[in-house]
Amino acid sequence: MTERLVPCPTCRTPAPFSERNPWRPFCSGRCRSVDLGAWASEGYRVDAEPATDVDAPPSSTASPH
Ligand SMILES: [Zn+2]
Repeated sequence: MTERLVPCPTCRTPAPFSERNPWRPFCSGRCRSVDLGAWASEGYRVDAEPATDVDAPPSSTASPH
């Protein structure tokens, strides 16, 4: 039985597309995490932005009413 090879979406290395390759269609877990990491950073950019407005004092320049 021959294993079918598919190009890894991350590094283009031919990877076996079979049940023996848990990372398919990627060549390795590293390439899979890289791809998922890129996807996550596209959708969720909250990690790089710490919330600094929580304890901000009320503005003294604002004139309520
Ligand atoms: Zn790869």
